[in-house]
Amino acid sequence: MSIRYPARVPMANLPTPLEPLDRITAAYSTPHGGPRIWVKRDDLTESAMSGNKLRKLEFIIAEARAQGCNTLITCGGEQSNHCRATALAAAKAGLQAHLILRGGREPRESAVPADGNLLVDYLAGATVSLVPLREYVGHLPALFQHWEQYYAEQGDRALSIPTGGSDGLGIWGYIRAAEELQEDFAHHGISPEYVICASGSGGTQAGLTLGGYLMGAAHLVRAYAVCDNRSYFEEKVARDVLDWNRRQAHPGSQSAVDPHKLSIDVCDEYIGPGYGIADQEVYEVISAAARLEGILLDPVYTGKAFNGMLQDIKNGGYSGCKDIVFVHTGGQFGVFPHRTQFVLDAG
Ligand SMILES: *Cc1c(COP(=O)(O)O)cnc(C)c1O
Repeated sequence: MSIRYPARVPMANLPTPLEPLDRITAAYSTPHGGPRIWVKRDDLTESAMSGNKLRKLEFIIAEARAQGCNTLITCGGEQSNHCRATALAAAKAGLQAHLILRGGREPRESAVPADGNLLVDYLAGATVSLVPLREYVGHLPALFQHWEQYYAEQGDRALSIPTGGSDGLGIWGYIRAAEELQEDFAHHGISPEYVICASGSGGTQAGLTLGGYLMGAAHLVRAYAVCDNRSYFEEKVARDVLDWNRRQAHPGSQSAVDPHKLSIDVCDEYIGPGYGIADQEVYEVISAAARLEGILLDPVYTGKAFNGMLQDIKNGGYSGCKDIVFVHTGGQFGVFPHRTQFVLDAG
């Protein structure tokens, strides 16, 4: 089926490579063998802008331009990869970025210097509002409204982007990635049983699931939750698809998809202590992936999901599979604020 995409501002280096991870596959295979693990290198979409959020931002920034906006407002945690990518992509597109960040102190006013993604936010010239946790959780829509109105009063025009860029617009990025994966599979002559990703705000999962459905793909998309539970993500993916439907309601666009027709597959057993907090097992998997394959996973998203996938291979969860594909969604800047958690062999 040919998909009718909306406007897109090209920013990511696409297609990203699809590579086999044969040393990890061997190290984690079971007595009965196990699937060959592949990695889709969406950590390589760009350099500083890298990761999954850039695919979504290509469509979001095109929409911002279409609406005549000169400012992007978005939100996330203090170490949000999405906010960092938005700050840099805005700079590249000549737009202003305003980030509403959850928790923490104002680094410029405290002894603790900004680290990781937050440091890059400042370097990119984004305006940063650090909001205490309780206010953020209780009043996020009002905060967006406040800043939209503030920019309107300045004679600017702001587009508000939801958490993770995950809505019916942002998921176009991973519908497109699903199509790219089909081309990768044909190129490598494989027909994977599973495409696997981490789910935080659900948009990557929603785009991959919907995109696979639109193309009649043979694989299932399985997401490893890093925060909320399974029913949350089942509902969130359906909501993003309904929003996507609503936005297609004009002539010449894609026809609507009933979310009940999608296989929304979520595993919420490897969240560990909570969002952004990982068990030692996750840090060990990050070290192993770097040592064995030269790839850098992160403790918030990809390390947790990759660990879940490896545990499930061990438990027989992928028995009978020949090839499985892990989408490396980026997050490398999130490694550094966790520096004290790694057990290093200084040998
Ligand atoms: C945001 C993010 C995810 C999760 O993607 P969602 O679309 O928000 O579910 C996964 N990995 C990394 C590195 C991320 O930054």
